[in-house]
Amino acid sequence: LAEKLQNTLGKLKSKGKLNEKDVKDAMREVKLALLEADVNFKVVKEFVNKVKERAVGQEVMESLTPGQHVIKIVNEELTDLMGNVQSKISFASKPPTVIMLVGLQGAGKTTTGGKLGGLLKKQGKKPLLVACDVYRPAAIKQLQVVGNQLEIPVFSMGDKESPVNIAKEGINHALSHNNDVVIIDTAGRLHIDELLMDELKNIKTEVKPHEILLVIDSMTGQDAVNVAENFNEALGIDGVVLTKLDGDTRGGAALSVRSVTRKPIKFIGMGEKLDDLEAFHPDRMASRILGMGDVLSLIEKAEQAIDVKKAKELEAKIKNQEFDFEDFLTQMEQVKNLGPLNKIMEMIPGMSGSKELKNLSFDDKEIRRIEAIIKSMTKKERRDPSILNASRRRRIANGSGTKVHEVNRLVKQFEQTKKMMKQFGNLEKSMKKGGKMK
Ligand code: GDP
Ligand code: MG
Repeated sequence: LAEKLQNTLGKLKSKGKLNEKDVKDAMREVKLALLEADVNFKVVKEFVNKVKERAVGQEVMESLTPGQHVIKIVNEELTDLMGNVQSKISFASKPPTVIMLVGLQGAGKTTTGGKLGGLLKKQGKKPLLVACDVYRPAAIKQLQVVGNQLEIPVFSMGDKESPVNIAKEGINHALSHNNDVVIIDTAGRLHIDELLMDELKNIKTEVKPHEILLVIDSMTGQDAVNVAENFNEALGIDGVVLTKLDGDTRGGAALSVRSVTRKPIKFIGMGEKLDDLEAFHPDRMASRILGMGDVLSLIEKAEQAIDVKKAKELEAKIKNQEFDFEDFLTQMEQVKNLGPLNKIMEMIPGMSGSKELKNLSFDDKEIRRIEAIIKSMTKKERRDPSILNASRRRRIANGSGTKVHEVNRLVKQFEQTKKMMKQFGNLEKSMKKGGKMK
């Protein structure tokens, strides 16, 4: 697919604003990629339309083809869609924090309960696992084995008691045993049914969990949407755990589930071992779902190339000895968009790692101060800093609301930069002549 996409991208050469055709062509590939990743088709349709609307008319970034620019937007939107909500466990102000795990049978609830307990234990919590699956044979035993491995206590009352009672008693147990987190492992069914939902609702009503986490098997694919929708409508979930992402699924379920529930994905299961639970990273998930790693790194490189181009322009000026405070000011303005000046300088061949470079980092506040100082200079002073005598420097300091020593420091920094750049110019000249560096 990446290859197919490259072809499409290659065909779109024109620059300027993204027109409808650019977007449509690129979005066709995006649509296929999302469907291949098993994103629900309705979600795909909605997403594609939304991005189309946003993309048409956007200015194409220099050094990107329109097609690449569309992919860039898609990737940003995907990341945004999956990640603009805080995705941590929110702990109760009055312990114990009660976390209830729900989901279909085999989704990974019991395993995730253990993993989550282990994770919280590492953070200094004292979790208690509560066995509320009284239907599946050996479900209680399974949780006990998991608890044993992690040295986390498991509360159970056998399979004769009602899950609601077990949950309630579990919390009492936690209260009297100093457990500050209670993780309730519930039963699942192969398909959603009312009996299951009613039982879960009853547990919810009785124990009022702080977090209801829906555990979803990422291999569920297209159907993930229905599962998520049903559980969310019936119970009102607080977040999602996506399991089995260590398999070869591209994880389209992440996007589907996020789109229909609007609830954050909080964790991902990355294996059967009890420490295979990770925090969810929307950016990583976005590129996994898109499955366009090659194209995305291409775009990243192109974005960096822009910085290089600006650095090259600067370099030319310096070599011609034209670099003055006006350029310095322009440079500062670019710095604000591009990141630190020393980063730009690093892109000039031969510059990275130089000692002077290390002295050249500015933070935001400093940049504003420098701007103020330069703006308080006259045109003539900016062009020819050598005329900056004591009284001029005093005036500039007053005008910019800074101190004379700050003006002095800037002038010194400027001279340093200029000298460094001149050295670099000479170096390159001698290298072009075939000379060697000493
Ligand atoms: P439950 O029915 O929802 O409680 O599901 P289980 O916790 O019993 O898990 C069902 C199966 O999925 C077990 O064999 C688990 O080992 C496996 N499993 C759960 N999470 C993951 C995961 O993140 N990756 C992999 N590879 N297997 C998992
Ligand atoms: Mg289970």
